[in-house]
Amino acid sequence: MDPLPEIIRQALEEPGSGVLLSFVENVITPFPSSALLYMFHRPVVSQSLPSRLPDDLVEAESLEIKQKDYQEAIRAYRKLLDTAETEMRSLLLQRLARTLRKANRLGEAAEAYRNLENMDTVWLGGLPSDFIARFELCTLAAEQGELSDLKALSFALYRDLVGGRWLIDKSRYLYYSDRCCSWCRESHVQAGEFNHVKVMEERKLALTRAAEAFSSEPIRILGDGVGTYLGFWRSDPLTAVILSEDYLRSQWWPRLVSAQGKDLDSILLSSDGHVLFGSIAIDAPPPFAVAQDIRIDGTYWRIQVWPRNPEAIQTDVRQRQNLFLSILVFVLVLLIFGSYITVRIVRRELEISRMRADFVSMVSHEFRSPLTGIRHLGEMLLDDQTINRTKQHRYFKMIVQESIRLTRLVENILDFSRMEEGRKEYRFEKLNTSRWLIKIIDDFEAEISAEGVTVETDIPDELPLISADREALGSAVHNLLDNAVKYSPQEKVVWISVKALAGAVRISVRDKGVGISEHDRKHIFDRFYRADGEISKRIKGAGLGLSLVRHIIAAHGGKLECESKVGEGSTFYIRLPAETVKGGGSDE
Ligand code: ADP
Repeated sequence: MDPLPEIIRQALEEPGSGVLLSFVENVITPFPSSALLYMFHRPVVSQSLPSRLPDDLVEAESLEIKQKDYQEAIRAYRKLLDTAETEMRSLLLQRLARTLRKANRLGEAAEAYRNLENMDTVWLGGLPSDFIARFELCTLAAEQGELSDLKALSFALYRDLVGGRWLIDKSRYLYYSDRCCSWCRESHVQAGEFNHVKVMEERKLALTRAAEAFSSEPIRILGDGVGTYLGFWRSDPLTAVILSEDYLRSQWWPRLVSAQGKDLDSILLSSDGHVLFGSIAIDAPPPFAVAQDIRIDGTYWRIQVWPRNPEAIQTDVRQRQNLFLSILVFVLVLLIFGSYITVRIVRRELEISRMRADFVSMVSHEFRSPLTGIRHLGEMLLDDQTINRTKQHRYFKMIVQESIRLTRLVENILDFSRMEEGRKEYRFEKLNTSRWLIKIIDDFEAEISAEGVTVETDIPDELPLISADREALGSAVHNLLDNAVKYSPQEKVVWISVKALAGAVRISVRDKGVGISEHDRKHIFDRFYRADGEISKRIKGAGLGLSLVRHIIAAHGGKLECESKVGEGSTFYIRLPAETVKGGGSDE
């Protein structure tokens, strides 16, 4: 036979957990022999007596049973005992004890039983001789009311009976076990000890019944009131292992379903769907149940495992989903935001590079026209000797004006670069607002006199002083006036006015020109910005003027604002803080 698997060997070692049955020529041999409580088949008899008894023994029995001459019978048995062989001695001792008892010689009867108990075991009438002796000793103790003897004897007998010391047949076992139990109770055997044996008896009884059921019909699952037992076997010769449910549940099952933990429930089903083992009986597979068919010894079994708390898993899954979703949304938002920023930066860069290109071409153009003008006028003065003085004077004036324009342009550019680099320095002084402003306007009018444009002014004499950089602030006003003229191609008048406000002076430069759209109004103060309108595009410019004006006004602690309507004209307001002392101030 192959060495037994560890798991089965363990089952055989644990009383009530399993038994190995060998079927040879209608004889069933259990292993270990103590695994079963009784033998449901022909008992295994180790030694037995010859079927025919000797004549002198028959005679002695006749004295005892028929003639009821116990004294004679005792003598006859004793005589026979002197010469009897070992096996016969057991039988004679049993007869002698029995007769002594009938003769009411109880002490001697007990003595005889004790001798019988100590002899080699012989099967007498289907029972082992030592068992008979011990049982009869119990009977004697019970009859004589010797409770302490009965207690010790009956409990020891019961324990050995349950322990599987003798393998007697079923009905005898049930009878003797029952008797032992009654004696134990009667003699007050300690409940703990007694129950221990009783529980063992029940376990072994169930196993024995399962083995008995198996012996009549080998089937895989043995049940029906004895719990669930599994039968494994191989034929020729038929050898079977019967394993108890408890054992399978505690040892085999956890190894089989190694996934089983405190968080998992599982069941084992037979191929016909019968639940063999499991944490709970279920009708339908619970959520997340996993089933696996396994084949053991040619038979299919199904293991089903599922989480004890599926809601926790669902919640966990939902939480993870939410987390992933949030991360996804976050990444998407980040992506969109990043793209938006990138597009903005790229657009801004493109815009700036376009503006720079426009600026360069615009500046070149702006430079070219006064330079060309100066050159032409100079050439005319050189070449034409006949030119009269009035004309000469006009040409020289025009040359001067063009040079001033050029100078302004260069100053604007230089100022712009200084401001960009933060190098622009202002020299503040107290100015008489009206006088300073009138001077600026006069200069401007002189510059544009050729264009036939007039500047209408509204400048009160009494104005608060302002603290300003004469050149810088002058250039700011000049720029505004220049724009007013530039962006009023159809209108030959521009307006400038000053008003004293509470703690401030407000200079307004107004025109009735092309006007500025709302969108452009937001950007005209940005460097290089030029409005999109058709007319504005036709008018030359570098997009620097207003950004310079804003810078200068800010440096003076003032505010630059614009009101405009497309097609109706624009007004730019310079609001400057006024000096507290009125009058005075320098004007040159
Ligand atoms: P430039 O005049 O050299 O283009 P500015 O910085 O002075 O640069 O002006 C920026 C833009 O503002 C101009 O291109 C123009 O479209 C608009 N603008 C400025 N002043 C006026 C005005 N008085 N009327 C209409 N548009 C104006």
